[in-house]
Amino acid sequence: MSWKESNLPPHVLIFPLPAQGHMNSMLTLAQLLCLSDFHVTFVVSEFNHRRLLKHTGTHSAFARYPGFRFQTIPDGLPEDHPRAGLRIMEIIQSLRKHVGPSFKKMLVDKDLLASADRRPVTCIIADAVLNFNADFAEENGIPLIYFRTISAAAVWVLFCVTRVAEANELPVKGNGMDELVKSIPGMEDFLRRRDLPSFCRVDNPNDPALHELIALTRQTVRAEAVILNTFEDLELPVLSNIRQHMARLYTIGPSNVLLKSRLEENKASSGSLWPEDRSCIDWLNAQAPGSVIYVSFGSVTILTRDQILEFWHGLVNSGQKFLWAMRPDSVDHSDRLIFESEQGIEGNGYMVEWAPQEEVLNHPAVGAFLTHCGWNSTLESIGAGVPMICWPFFADQMVNSRFVSDVWRIGLDIKDSCDRVVIENAVRELMEQRKDEFAERARCLAAQVRRAVADGGSSEQSLEDLIMYIASMIT
Ligand code: UDP
Repeated sequence: MSWKESNLPPHVLIFPLPAQGHMNSMLTLAQLLCLSDFHVTFVVSEFNHRRLLKHTGTHSAFARYPGFRFQTIPDGLPEDHPRAGLRIMEIIQSLRKHVGPSFKKMLVDKDLLASADRRPVTCIIADAVLNFNADFAEENGIPLIYFRTISAAAVWVLFCVTRVAEANELPVKGNGMDELVKSIPGMEDFLRRRDLPSFCRVDNPNDPALHELIALTRQTVRAEAVILNTFEDLELPVLSNIRQHMARLYTIGPSNVLLKSRLEENKASSGSLWPEDRSCIDWLNAQAPGSVIYVSFGSVTILTRDQILEFWHGLVNSGQKFLWAMRPDSVDHSDRLIFESEQGIEGNGYMVEWAPQEEVLNHPAVGAFLTHCGWNSTLESIGAGVPMICWPFFADQMVNSRFVSDVWRIGLDIKDSCDRVVIENAVRELMEQRKDEFAERARCLAAQVRRAVADGGSSEQSLEDLIMYIASMIT
């Protein structure tokens, strides 16, 4: 008897890193599984759960899925911890320390391993950076699927970092930043040392944090399967390389576009941890098509006052209209006040603290995106057919930005420089001088996205395969 004929569908425990970008793609997967009538328990930190309740209609949006429930856990950090900038990494360490050992107790206490109205957990879909899940799953005989929320390109680069170190190609003490890295198969012709994930910029090749990262990536193969938020046509050569190490790989991206294609009223829950300021949509409605550059550095980046001023002057001097989503915690509060009152908005710009980003990127007035190249933002821009100026802040963003500029050729990469003239020139190049060329390539890529998520498309098919695979665990 298949699970469809029995009373109780598969029950999936989804455990993302409690950070906006990681939660977004895994919440989207949760919704996709719920649409197939799965039961889903979604683990969220108490800290983020409070913000979800306060700022978004997440709970009412999820009421449409009777099989969905949140499971809160403490993240082990003090309430006033910034949970941003480089200190975002402390969430991983804290969860490892505080949740890892008590995870089983939590599942038993919350009846997740046995309950009347749902099956014991059929499988865990864990964020691959939360590696304590592998021990737990193994000890308890529960199948584990990892979700790696970064690009396939970044996964492959991380997978090859040992080789890079052995070939003496790490940018130790910032050496040879513009030299090509020859030890990563498939990327020999375009990936420079400065495009390696920021954690590779070490003073010493034996840097403990780097080696922890290598170990974290290598343990991905402990899972039965791996899910990536990408699509075959976008990253096929890289995916072929990864498949030599992880045979069961599901590529379901862009998961936000796939979800939208499956929702009748086309409306997914955003899961924003900040209140969305929709006044920017009214402002966009009054702008000419393709005339606005949207600026956002995501949920983690912290900028210095000097950096903000460089971006500000670069944008204003370009003469282009811009919409800037500047998170309240992305800059010291007193700096922000000085900045706003000193500079004024000068007619060309509009600022909000947090934007409904997907809607903004799909708005006809938006012609380009100045982004930190977080993987969600990059994919959202690709899905909307919007060219990018990339200013990566850290981690995998370094790799993504190189792919945007040199592989997909839908934008410019200005990493490692925060200078008003460079910014002004990049905006002019993207919005004026080479506008049609970039727009055309971005349009083609967006068309590939639509094909990937359409019936029979690679991502749609991959999601179906994943659903069948999980279902097969209980038949
Ligand atoms: N985001 C948003 N409004 C904003 C800024 C960002 O909704 O004003 C969302 C964006 O759509 C994306 C996520 O926050 O889904 C950021 O994730 P990403 O992987 O791009 O970067 P991270 O925040 O993890 O660095």
